Amino acid sequence: MIPETAKSRLKQIVGEAHFRDDPQTLVTHSYDGTPMLQSLPDAVVYPADTRQVSEILKVLHEYGIPLISRGSGTNLSGGTVPVEGGVVMVMHRMNQILELDLENLTATVQPGLNTKRFIEHVEQYGLFYPPDPGSMAVSTIGGNIAECSGGLRGLKYGTTKDYVIGLEAVLANGEIIRTGGKLMKDVAGYDLTKLLVGSEGTLAVITEAVLKLIPLPKCKKTMIAMFSDIYDAARTVSKIIENRIIPATLEFLDNPTIRVVDDYAKIGLPRDMEAILLIEQDGDRETVERDIARIGEICRDENADRVEIAQSDEEAQKLMSARRFAFTALARLKPTTILEDATVPRSKIADMVVEINRIAKKYNVTICTFGHAGDGNLHPTALTDARDREEIERVEAAFEEIFDAAIRLGGTITGEHGVGTVKAPFLEWKVGRAGIDVMQGIKRAFDPKGILNPGKMFAKETRKRVIIHHG
Ligand SMILES: Cc1cc2nc3c(=O)[nH]c(=O)nc-3n(C[C@H](O)[C@H](O)[C@H](O)COP(=O)(O)OP(=O)(O)OC[C@H]3O[C@@H](n4cnc5c(N)ncnc54)[C@H](O)[C@@H]3O)c2cc1C
Repeated sequence: MIPETAKSRLKQIVGEAHFRDDPQTLVTHSYDGTPMLQSLPDAVVYPADTRQVSEILKVLHEYGIPLISRGSGTNLSGGTVPVEGGVVMVMHRMNQILELDLENLTATVQPGLNTKRFIEHVEQYGLFYPPDPGSMAVSTIGGNIAECSGGLRGLKYGTTKDYVIGLEAVLANGEIIRTGGKLMKDVAGYDLTKLLVGSEGTLAVITEAVLKLIPLPKCKKTMIAMFSDIYDAARTVSKIIENRIIPATLEFLDNPTIRVVDDYAKIGLPRDMEAILLIEQDGDRETVERDIARIGEICRDENADRVEIAQSDEEAQKLMSARRFAFTALARLKPTTILEDATVPRSKIADMVVEINRIAKKYNVTICTFGHAGDGNLHPTALTDARDREEIERVEAAFEEIFDAAIRLGGTITGEHGVGTVKAPFLEWKVGRAGIDVMQGIKRAFDPKGILNPGKMFAKETRKRVIIHHG
């Protein structure tokens, strides 16, 4: 509960219209993209600028009230669920491109800016912002930064962390800090920019970002390789990289995913194939032609049944939409879709696919797999029903074993979706006790009262996704 005095101060800061605590608003901000996790906030605020964010935090800090920053709520780790109540702060009003600096090739933006809108805007100037999460039509740049999101172009171009070079952020006590800048080099002290990227709203509220842009590649080609053996497809991913070719995109879809996507999008995918790889290369024409030809040869050497190259932009877009539709299409099949993101070294991708299928069989659960295979980042996706408690228990057990397998193969529990609430019980598997202690020390330095997104990252207890928390 928020004391009335704190409420009226918050209303004064943002204005009556931008403070809400009616039941509808509380319910719509009690969940995010994560299935089976819900908890009511006490209020929702919509700040207009950094000064308001700072004033809001000063009030919340004084009263010890939790603050949960929220972009579009598309995250899949419970990152914006207010598991300990408090105030949800929606960043959508702060959605401007403040500057496009064509001399330095940087953009300065506010956190509530939509990712796709930003990408399309800079493309008009022949510039390229590569991080393109599958959710980019809805997600915000602030959410992408706080989760260090990856995307379909991560293999060649890296993820969000590789493009954030400066930040403005508000600390838990309302103080405003600036890190980095329009600088390609900066070693003045610890790298707070990199620390805040991926900090999931637990260290500070990001209110402005300086993003690095690169020239838009001149040419692009897209191809599909089809395999009747899933292991051949997975092994081909490592083979392409081993041959020292780094495609812009290298995505994997297994047979159940192919069928479902084709039912949904009517793309004409090969429904009889056990797996497909969607591959894109960009750059100058000569390199693209050479790489695509060589990748085709490698696919055939690794037993691809067919390899086809898109003959037009329209065909290429259709092929890539198969990957972008995967989650949406799978989500239509069963009431509950749980999408995970175990990640392994690229050389282990085939072993991981085998492990996922073995574990799914062992627990008798339906798991479809697709993902950014070139990054070693797979999305095993369970199709289930939250009302079937017994099946959900088996799904949770299967995922626990999948995370364990990923760690054994030298991987991690999450490649891009973040720890949030649902992965918190497994963080120690990856970073060890000493790693957790260091991270908690950092958390205390930024947020001694623990008001920023509490209940995330560090598990107080094993709080699995199946437990629905009511605020
Ligand atoms: C269909 C689908 C496809 C997806 N594909 C991908 C993908 O390809 N790659 C990928 O990495 N992820 C993917 N995701 C996950 C998700 O979309 C990303 O994590 C995305 O970056 C979240 O953006 P958002 O604006 O929705 O953030 P939210 O979900 O609102 O917030 C995410 C986290 O960021 C924090 N946060 C938000 N704004 C701020 C701020 N201004 N300051 C501090 N903290 C803040 C929140 O507290 C929360 O912890 C996908 C999700 C869906 C539903």
